[in-house]
Amino acid sequence: MEVSSVKKLEQLEFSLDSVTDLSASSASSSTPAVATFSCVDGVTELRFLQSDSTHCFNFDLASAQLFKLGPVHFICVSDSSEEKSFSKGVNIKFKNDKDSNDFCESFQEWRKDAVVQGSSLQNGTVSANKSKFDNKIEASSAKMYFHYYGQLLHQQNMLQDYVRTGTYYAAVMENRSDFAGRVVVDVGAGSGILSMFAAQAGAKHVYAVEASEMAEYSRKLIAGNPLFAERITVIKGKVEDIELPEKADILISEPMGTLLVNERMLESYVIARDRFMSPKGKMFPTVGRIHMAPFSDEFLFIEMANKAMFWQQQNYYGVDLTPLYGSAHQGYFSQPVVDAFDPRLLVASPMFHMIDFTQMKEEDFYEIDIPLKFTASMCTRVHGLACWFDVLFDGSTVQRWLTTAPGAPTTHWYQIRCVLSQPIYVMAGQEITGRLHLIAHSAQSYTIDLTLSAKMWGPGASQGGILQSSTCKFDLKEPYYRMSQPQAYPVTQEPPLQPQPELNTQDIQTPNDELEEELLQQLPQNLSAQL
Ligand code: SAH
Repeated sequence: MEVSSVKKLEQLEFSLDSVTDLSASSASSSTPAVATFSCVDGVTELRFLQSDSTHCFNFDLASAQLFKLGPVHFICVSDSSEEKSFSKGVNIKFKNDKDSNDFCESFQEWRKDAVVQGSSLQNGTVSANKSKFDNKIEASSAKMYFHYYGQLLHQQNMLQDYVRTGTYYAAVMENRSDFAGRVVVDVGAGSGILSMFAAQAGAKHVYAVEASEMAEYSRKLIAGNPLFAERITVIKGKVEDIELPEKADILISEPMGTLLVNERMLESYVIARDRFMSPKGKMFPTVGRIHMAPFSDEFLFIEMANKAMFWQQQNYYGVDLTPLYGSAHQGYFSQPVVDAFDPRLLVASPMFHMIDFTQMKEEDFYEIDIPLKFTASMCTRVHGLACWFDVLFDGSTVQRWLTTAPGAPTTHWYQIRCVLSQPIYVMAGQEITGRLHLIAHSAQSYTIDLTLSAKMWGPGASQGGILQSSTCKFDLKEPYYRMSQPQAYPVTQEPPLQPQPELNTQDIQTPNDELEEELLQQLPQNLSAQL
């Protein structure tokens, strides 16, 4: 299936000034020759035939290399000789610069074709060079990552997120005109589901590129769906490494991680754009937005602080654990919390940061700096920043958003909250400023620096104010999945019910307790009673 669908080039001939065998023991005489590129039984070949027909040298282009020694002088070497154990090579001389340049261009083009066919045949990877991906991602991280996606249970988890998969299906089907008769690349095809959606929408051909072992399963799944199989080629490899025989009219992909950018697959998506998409091509999804808002969640804050309280024990089987309390506390507060929360916990209107997949450069994802500015809608303690994302399928017929917002039907991404170990106090109408700084790391994720600040009310405010500021560092790679916790959030506007935790907020020792005392005194009576 894959081989027959790959575009075949016609036979092409070049006449040469001479060809000599590199391995000949004595300097053989230069003999004029003809070089022919051709495709025989799915193998792309380069053949040099001396005009007196004394010698013929065949090279499989999938493994041949060309080295330029001078303007018209080259050597061509192959590592798969007829003897199976030796390389072979020939010295080539052209009649003029033009022939030499034309030959070089053809060599590259035919080689690309050979490599794609070779990869489809052998399910193999293709590039000998260390790729863009390998240069920036730790091998151990990539190994675990692709091992994870190579398992059907994880693909099933995504397929069973009906909000996700259903929205993709609707976005494709509602925009058939973007797919019908078009060449499509599915970037990170996984099970191949999006490739099959594109084929259902009438795609002329879909290249399903998948780096993990899932490529084998997707071949099997696609082969079992004969309506589409003829029009889908599965290519096993990274989008950074593989070659495709033609440009795509549209890219489809699901490269989003928690907070949109986790897993760093958006970088592969834009690399695929630059490598495979024709200039007027479309991207599905087209843009993404990270939404952010400060939240107040006393339950969550206490729960996290309680976890670290284990290390407050001075007599754990006779051992004092307190030397590690600070580290444990910091450790818990460096984990972004992943769960579905009630949107009523948000204490200001959200803002968003837009990422245009059609414009972003790969390097733009290395560091993402978002200045924050909100207006508090109530008087409360702010425990951190809540984040979620959405993506837009900017179809020619219908524009459709896939959202992971709190309050919307829950997806397998849930939402993410960065909890500050030191909450800040705000009054209704007060401005909250700050910064969300994301720095990519080589384990396919990000280090997050979050700062939230609010100018204090009360004495001093009129002279420029006193700034409360709280900063925390998080590792997006180490989230705290909190899905099993039942969430007892109040349903009315009345004061929230007090939880009965092992610990009260006031018991948690933070370096700023004195400041908290001072602030509490400034708060209106009804709120300070709740805290
Ligand atoms: N498109 C599928 C799978 C999405 S998960 C679906 O929507 O259900 C992302 C997939 O992309 C994973 O299977 C992962 O192995 C693959 N992937 C991630 N980075 C890749 C890369 N650089 N090249 C090729 N595949 C990649």
